[in-house]
Amino acid sequence: MLKVDYDVIVVGAGPSGSTAAARLAAAGLSVLILERYPLPRYKTCGGGITRRALQKMPIDISSVVRESIDTVVAQNDGEKTQIFTHKRPFMFLVMRDELDFLLTQHAVNCGANLQTDESVIDVTTEEDIIYVATRTKRFSCRFLLGADGVNSLVARKTDLSLGKQKILALEYEVKRAPTFVEKHSHSILIDYGAVPHGYLWVFPKRDHFSIGVGSFTPNTADLQRCLKVFLSSHDLLKDVLQARGHHLSFGGAPLQIARGGVALIGDAAGLVEPFGGEGIYYALYSGELAAAQVIKQTQNGTYDMQSYQDEVDRLIMPELSLLSKVNGVFYGNINFIHSLITRYPQFMYKGLEILEGEKSYSKVYPVLNRVLHVSRGIHSISHYFG
Ligand SMILES: Cc1cc2nc3c(=O)[nH]c(=O)nc-3n(C[C@H](O)[C@H](O)[C@H](O)COP(=O)(O)OP(=O)(O)OC[C@H]3O[C@@H](n4cnc5c(N)ncnc54)[C@H](O)[C@@H]3O)c2cc1C
Repeated sequence: MLKVDYDVIVVGAGPSGSTAAARLAAAGLSVLILERYPLPRYKTCGGGITRRALQKMPIDISSVVRESIDTVVAQNDGEKTQIFTHKRPFMFLVMRDELDFLLTQHAVNCGANLQTDESVIDVTTEEDIIYVATRTKRFSCRFLLGADGVNSLVARKTDLSLGKQKILALEYEVKRAPTFVEKHSHSILIDYGAVPHGYLWVFPKRDHFSIGVGSFTPNTADLQRCLKVFLSSHDLLKDVLQARGHHLSFGGAPLQIARGGVALIGDAAGLVEPFGGEGIYYALYSGELAAAQVIKQTQNGTYDMQSYQDEVDRLIMPELSLLSKVNGVFYGNINFIHSLITRYPQFMYKGLEILEGEKSYSKVYPVLNRVLHVSRGIHSISHYFG
């Protein structure tokens, strides 16, 4: 058998790539991580790590947690404020440059090789050897993990993840927050009436606030206006430190994400939940599944990541496709849903238990389904009577 430079090459040093690389290197495989930017690098992201995502972290990340959150301040277009305080923190806020750097250092400590400032520009395969090219170098490997985010080059070069849906989200880093957020410590603000078919968030990051908007529709023209309306109504426009936009994958539809020795993980595979936009949990989860399959294949002397595809289809996709249905009904009936959680706050608390990892979405779906039926009924009746 021809020799290769590495057992595994991982393209991208985000949470999916670094955690997969750490597991593979710890198992004794030779691993190379290729990252386009020098590290640490800014990543446009709310940096909300749910407790279920925290449980999937390979190391203690408390050194980079800027705030622990146990309270949601929910609003409908700046009005009807409701406050939900959970029994313990369900979310931990980080800056992604700090988190990602910590996870990459962990991969290196486990034995992975890291080359930064190396943008991958091509991927080719000859029999069971995969070649990965940057502008100046070319490496060979048996397995390739595409962890290169939503606009993945590995996906494009290998015809994987075809038809993945994308939306745009905006993230502004702001010096101050709306006063009612500052008033409630350990809280985040979610306003699901501030943006059509999406929501606005305010996440405290100790020395500043991450304020962003995302809409689950392809019409992105209004996003900037919606965010600016919010910022100006709180006199925060002059406090913006940095403003960025970034694509977000939109999971739910079945996609081919593995072929031969190549597999996509995290955003490259489109694994973001299409209701709240949580992606870090699925990045860690898919990285874990892919690493486990690479280790198994290596032990068996095989090079077929179809087994990883099967695991994602079995363990992750049912939840994403369910949430894609919930999305349609929730964001299409915001006023009704808002009155529902005002009357029955336990719905919100059930949602927080899911983010905590105490419950899974599939457990609450039967109840949600009944609510959605009623909601559709009320919607048609109110339409009928004008
Ligand atoms: C505005 C916004 C807010 C969000 N907020 C949250 C949130 O609060 N909570 C949450 O769970 N999720 C959130 N997400 C989603 C989350 O950011 C992603 O799901 C997560 O970053 C996916 O991790 P990843 O490792 O798959 O990819 P990424 O984090 O995107 O990492 C990909 C890495 O690959 C590198 N790369 C790309 N191309 C190449 C190349 N050709 N060669 C070499 N390297 C390359 C990139 O530089 C990057 O370091 C948000 C997303 C957006 C856009």
